[in-house]
Amino acid sequence: MQIYEEDQHLNDLLHLPCPSCGSQLAYSAEKKKISCGYCGYLEEVNTANDQVVERSLNEAIDSVAEYSPEEIDKKVCKCDGCGAEFMVESNIPKASCGFCGSEKVNVQAFDHQYIKPVGIIPFYISKVEAEKHFTKWINQGFFHPNKLKKLASMENLHGVYIPFWTYDAQTEANWSGEAGYHYNETIRVNVNGQMKAQNVSKIRWQYRKGNLKHFFDDVLVVASGGLKQKEISKALPYRLEEVVNFDPRLMIGWEAEVYKLQVDEGFQVADKIMDDRLRNMCSAQLGGDTQRNLHVHSSKHSQTFKHIILPLWICSYRYQNEIFHFFINGQTGRVSGKKPISWFKVGFLILLFILFIIGVWYLRESGVFRK
Ligand SMILES: [Zn+2]
Ligand SMILES: [Zn+2]
Repeated sequence: MQIYEEDQHLNDLLHLPCPSCGSQLAYSAEKKKISCGYCGYLEEVNTANDQVVERSLNEAIDSVAEYSPEEIDKKVCKCDGCGAEFMVESNIPKASCGFCGSEKVNVQAFDHQYIKPVGIIPFYISKVEAEKHFTKWINQGFFHPNKLKKLASMENLHGVYIPFWTYDAQTEANWSGEAGYHYNETIRVNVNGQMKAQNVSKIRWQYRKGNLKHFFDDVLVVASGGLKQKEISKALPYRLEEVVNFDPRLMIGWEAEVYKLQVDEGFQVADKIMDDRLRNMCSAQLGGDTQRNLHVHSSKHSQTFKHIILPLWICSYRYQNEIFHFFINGQTGRVSGKKPISWFKVGFLILLFILFIIGVWYLRESGVFRK
């Protein structure tokens, strides 16, 4: 009986044998299909998205509070390819057999989490394409060292399915503030006993108030343990209308992560993003050349969320013994990362600017501008 239970536990990993030749299938970003590396068998990705639905946020937060998660541990798995037994960490989705190299997905890693993903965007940017996007990106911009293109060596480029939250909310804001308009006024001033006309710029202030309603749809928050929202911000957005039903088969051959940021912690991030955008919208309604005393009182209701998995290439490159991280959107190829600044170039440009100012001043003094 004991052995039987263990045996059942051994079959938990998702592994896809090819229906045509029996070897292993994996998801291929080049072909955008589930494919067999040996016989060329291809399987279309199901594009249905009927499971990609939002849930009430308040209900989820209440039930999360009552939930006590299982402890993270290791479990023994048996490879159905070669029969070897190996250990898999219960919260890591990627599992590969160290003996025959076949790759599997530990679907239980997602079951382990309280909230399960409802949608996924498969990788569309292959490794080769990701490398091209890196080369193009590293060559852009003036203020970087010339040697960068030649010396930057990419290290450890890997595709990871990253957990995200998306949040929706209906918001209403009451705002008030003062819009300022610039105007010029001519005043007469006493200069050495003589009255002279002088132009002064002034601001006319106008008090206004208003009300604004806005529905926020799919505010995206990264739920990964290691990644920061700011780090990947330039790699955003994703085309979220292309999210399909969550299918762990799309993860075979890829790394994947389960969420670390809880659903309520994620909402705090989204809340701030929404408040900032609301303030900008209120400011736009207030108008004027300049503004002061803008007060915004906002309320949110009908908040909903969903948990989705999105593709990201994670990589670093080394330049002069320093490591720079960058990220490539696995759907669109947009890059987010840091590049070293050439202080020599910046200094040179500042020097050029100073010389220009001195030149203009000299020409004025020497009377070139006078008729
Ligand atoms: Zn095959
Ligand atoms: Zn094996």
